[in-house]
Amino acid sequence: MSATLIDGKALSAAVRERLVERIRAANRPVRLDALLVGSDRAAAIYAENQAKTCAAIGIDYRLHRLPDGAGYDDIAGRVLLLNTDDEVRAIMMHLPLPHGVDHERIQALIAPEKDVEGVNPANIGNVVYGRRSLVPCTALASVELIESTGVELRGARAVIVGASNIVGKPIAVLLMRAEATVISTNKFTRAIAELTRSADILVAAAGVPRLITGEMVKPGAVVVDVGINRVTGADGKPMTVGDVAFEEVLEVASHVTPVPGGVGPMTVAMLLRNTVDAALR
Ligand code: NAD
Repeated sequence: MSATLIDGKALSAAVRERLVERIRAANRPVRLDALLVGSDRAAAIYAENQAKTCAAIGIDYRLHRLPDGAGYDDIAGRVLLLNTDDEVRAIMMHLPLPHGVDHERIQALIAPEKDVEGVNPANIGNVVYGRRSLVPCTALASVELIESTGVELRGARAVIVGASNIVGKPIAVLLMRAEATVISTNKFTRAIAELTRSADILVAAAGVPRLITGEMVKPGAVVVDVGINRVTGADGKPMTVGDVAFEEVLEVASHVTPVPGGVGPMTVAMLLRNTVDAALR
């Protein structure tokens, strides 16, 4: 058996098309204000790409840069200014922040209704309560990809490998809200393969290359690979792989997300959707 690929690129393109229509229909400006601190090269490239992605669907992208030497007070001050600016409806913060600045403390300052990454504890709390809120983008993306397969979530057994605050835990909570039976695992979980082999839905979000092998997957399971890991390929060149041994799992699962081209593009689409939701609310 060969699994069906869950095409994150195509699904995210469809989400973006709907956003273009919503922006057009609302006939109101939609803007995303992003904060970039310091000169991290990867973050700068990410911000450049984000600017292009936003422009393509009609979102006005404003990048606020702070220098390498910026400390907690400088960054917090800028966030508070954006919070109180009525023109600003959507805020996100690029990581990493300079050494010694606790990014979670800064994220907790972003006004919840403008926090389009869903990283403020108030938004995470609302995910638990099932209230309308801005949900962390990767968690939202993972669940959208699962739902796109048509699998019945209610009563399904879902195993989440990885339990970080903004990826593994919110995915678990979103699936609990859909009345799946959820097992959350982490690096201390014993006999993890026994658990993963029982999963109708398996989400890998550990950050460990090829952690999930074919024999850890139940035949016919839906497998979502959140991992993004840089490794050296057989040809000696760097390449990106997920947490799933893709070729093996393809032979066992019913559906699987590729890396790249799965959760990654859908996460970007969810950030854009949260931005449009925040702007038009
Ligand atoms: P994290 O390091 O904060 O958390 C990792 C979690 O995995 C922890 O709960 C840890 O206990 C668990 N874990 C580690 N090794 C394990 C093992 N051998 N068995 C079981 N559990 C194990 O990482 P994160 O921020 O949640 O990110 C996880 C992965 O997802 C990374 O590869 C990251 O790059 C990727 N990621 C992808 C996207 C995307 O858009 N596709 C977004 C965010 C993160």
